[in-house]
Amino acid sequence: PKLVYDFTEGNKDMKELLGGKGANLAEMTNLGLPVPPGFTISAEACKVFLATGSVPPELADEIDHHVSALEQKMGKKLGQADDPLLVSVRSGAAVSMPGMMETVLNVGLNDDSVNGLAHQSGNPRFAWDAYRRLIQMFGKTVLGMEGDVFEDAIEAAKKAKGTKNDLDLDADDLQALVKNFKAAVKQHTGRDFPQDPREQMDLAIEAVFGSWNAERAILYRRQERIATDLGTAVNICSMVFGNLGMDSGTGVAFTRDPSSGQPGVYGDYLQNAQGEDVVAGIRNTVPLADLEQIDRLSYDNLMEIMATLEGHYRDLCDIEFTVERGKLWMLQTRVGKRTAGAAFRIATSLIDEGMIDIDEALKRVKGAQLAQLMFPRFDTDADRDLVTKGIGASPGAASGKVVFTSAAAVEAAGKGEKVILVRRETNPDDLHGMIAAQGILTSRGGKTSHAAVVARGMGKTCVCGAEELDVEVAAGRIKVHGTTISAGDVISIDGTTGEVFLGEVPVVPSPVVQYFEGSLAPDAGDELVAAVHRLITHADEIRRLGVRTNADTAEDADRARRFGAEGIGLCRTEHMFLGERREAVERLILADDDAEREAALAELEPLQRGDFLELLAAMDGLPVTIRLIDPPLHEFLPSMEELAVKVALAEERGEDAGRDKVLLAAVERLHEQNPMLGLRGVRLGLVVPGLFAMQVRAIASAAAELRGQGKDPRPEIMIPLVGAIQELQLARDEVEGVLREVTETEGVEWNTPIGTMIELPRAAVIADQIAEAADFFSFGTNDLTQTTWGFSRDDVEGSFFSRYLEKGIFAVSPFESIDRDGVGALVRTGVEKGRAAKPDLKLGICGEHGGDPDSIHFFDEVGLDYVSCSPFRLPVARLEAGRATL
Ligand code: ADP
Ligand code: MG
Ligand code: MG
Repeated sequence: PKLVYDFTEGNKDMKELLGGKGANLAEMTNLGLPVPPGFTISAEACKVFLATGSVPPELADEIDHHVSALEQKMGKKLGQADDPLLVSVRSGAAVSMPGMMETVLNVGLNDDSVNGLAHQSGNPRFAWDAYRRLIQMFGKTVLGMEGDVFEDAIEAAKKAKGTKNDLDLDADDLQALVKNFKAAVKQHTGRDFPQDPREQMDLAIEAVFGSWNAERAILYRRQERIATDLGTAVNICSMVFGNLGMDSGTGVAFTRDPSSGQPGVYGDYLQNAQGEDVVAGIRNTVPLADLEQIDRLSYDNLMEIMATLEGHYRDLCDIEFTVERGKLWMLQTRVGKRTAGAAFRIATSLIDEGMIDIDEALKRVKGAQLAQLMFPRFDTDADRDLVTKGIGASPGAASGKVVFTSAAAVEAAGKGEKVILVRRETNPDDLHGMIAAQGILTSRGGKTSHAAVVARGMGKTCVCGAEELDVEVAAGRIKVHGTTISAGDVISIDGTTGEVFLGEVPVVPSPVVQYFEGSLAPDAGDELVAAVHRLITHADEIRRLGVRTNADTAEDADRARRFGAEGIGLCRTEHMFLGERREAVERLILADDDAEREAALAELEPLQRGDFLELLAAMDGLPVTIRLIDPPLHEFLPSMEELAVKVALAEERGEDAGRDKVLLAAVERLHEQNPMLGLRGVRLGLVVPGLFAMQVRAIASAAAELRGQGKDPRPEIMIPLVGAIQELQLARDEVEGVLREVTETEGVEWNTPIGTMIELPRAAVIADQIAEAADFFSFGTNDLTQTTWGFSRDDVEGSFFSRYLEKGIFAVSPFESIDRDGVGALVRTGVEKGRAAKPDLKLGICGEHGGDPDSIHFFDEVGLDYVSCSPFRLPVARLEAGRATL
């Protein structure tokens, strides 16, 4: 197959073969734009090189052929002594990896042709500048020399001359530098700088191929989840020169502002400069708009070309260009990266400009970008005192007093104070503190640690893994770089960048959240809000998936409704057993006989009924899926260690440990090696008489009361952790019995759906059987992931997951994004078997994955009816559910 393509032979859709740069150079060439002629060696040749260590044998001939054609077109020969054709050898992979790979400019110069170039251009300074650049880039890229060798020499030359400006180095200085550089090459590599132009070119090509596997490129690909085997193409492009004098220059430009999305002239320009000089910051660039004064003709020409490119790509483009003695040349373009805000504004602007339709606009924005727009931000203009940097785990900007315990967080928040909860790591006990805090800072754990996952779910700012922090919880202080931060000191954390600041940094609130909260109208003049409104409205219109929320309280339910929830997909009832109710729960667990147990349950029932009244009222008219109690009962008792100490102390003092002793015995009796796999879920309901019945009575009577008030409560009862049809059938019989009872006593009749969570592999595999006794399934993908992989989420994420990610065992934690092949296959099986047995079975998902964009696309694909996620993720879920249909 063909390995080399002239720029006239390719187009923008050939990225895989020609790389992004090559494909777009070809596209611009064919649009008739001024691109210096050249050709592209395909990524296929690179793949061969990487696999075998040498380029395919037929490559040399093909390159010969294209070099001759190029020489003919340009009317000069590569490196020809009196008037040399010079080329750049440029890397360019299918996926943009900015700054990761290498480029060599001015290939073809040698000790002879540098004189030809000097004579031909009438500008010896330029020729020697070009030659020293070639040796410098070649030395670094091809010969593997340290850049400092060259940079130090340039610095020394400038110092000797008494200047800081590279333009003050004249032809003689640069000629001396070349001599210097060549000596350095000889010294470092033991051979002379190659004088044969074609040898220079071939070595540069191989170096570019090899740079695919440079350490930083590998790291970058791992982080950005780019495939490891794509290889890079190489572009051979005839040189144009921005360093010929002040009538020449080089620049970068955007067709609109990549940070705000606004139309206008954005970019930087540098006179008398080449290539990387613009971004390298060797001299101060001028704003692109100034080019209008400097060179009106080139400026007008550039504006015209940028309009052409935008119209052609129908998107924001970024551009590299060079002006050579008043003539404009295009060196690169691509659809440009942009901020989240710019993505929304550009997408909707392009609809108005008639370039794309609204479906296309929706495709171009992502849930992750919307999520970013929902967090308040630090004012970057403010004074900030940076102390350390961790991992930005959950975006946002939070300031508050440092607290080290959940209790302290709750107490301070109760007084209306803002706090940052600082811990080595968090665990489920810290939930109250996390809720009370403005933000969470941990010194251990990565993006999938407990703190990170929970914070993201709650939409709470979190920085984790700030390893430089020495968190001494007992002493109530943090030590970092010789600074001590004590409880009560104010700090600020940036959940996007991972930065930690001393003191309070002012924030700017997110207008997008104000819009979702209903306090900012979409047409109030904020363009970003208008854009978000427009695209999310469209997503709502076209999405097939319903969107529900995970909420346990009326307050969450209220917010979720404003954020677009169409019901509750998961109400956990655990919290209804906590707080002041603990004592009743203890009595329930310690009960010696039926009477004591029933008394304890009778005490809990009205309290839970009150909770359900509020929740069902808040979600009036919408379905509320209530999961009966799931965690093992001993989680509601004090810790074994704590009790053991108390009892031991009491006995030492010769006192009667009394109740503590009884409690300790119960905890010891209930203790489990693997609580996650122990007495929980439906098993509890079947073993503890009256427990499920109490909850169902509380639900049904609350619903009956609301009906009496003319409301429309729609509870759905969900049985957790079912693995066998018998379990579900037994639980269902009990639930139905209670529902019948309540119907009789309250005199109201209605149909309450009864369903189950599918969170054990066995349940997914026998979903056809389970469906017989279920009105709905809700896939509990958190537990299903734990039980399918055999991972305990609380244990593995902080320990070996980071190494699993490094080793590429998975690209993302399976708790964050659904593992399609394994857990996903079980979901698919559950859907297919469930629906085969019962076509009108309602199917949803209520794990952490319900708010994850990739997972949402998967759930749409397998045909679920709805996803359920935390209130703060609802806008993301709505947007992605819409995008999933495109
Ligand atoms: P990168 O992918 O890092 O941007 P490039 O291949 O685009 O690397 O090249 C690096 C710099 O050299 C860019 O500023 C580019 O515009 C410039 N450049 C590349 N080829 C040429 C050429 N033929 N003539 C003039 N400048 C060039
Ligand atoms: Mg470039
Ligand atoms: Mg579960």
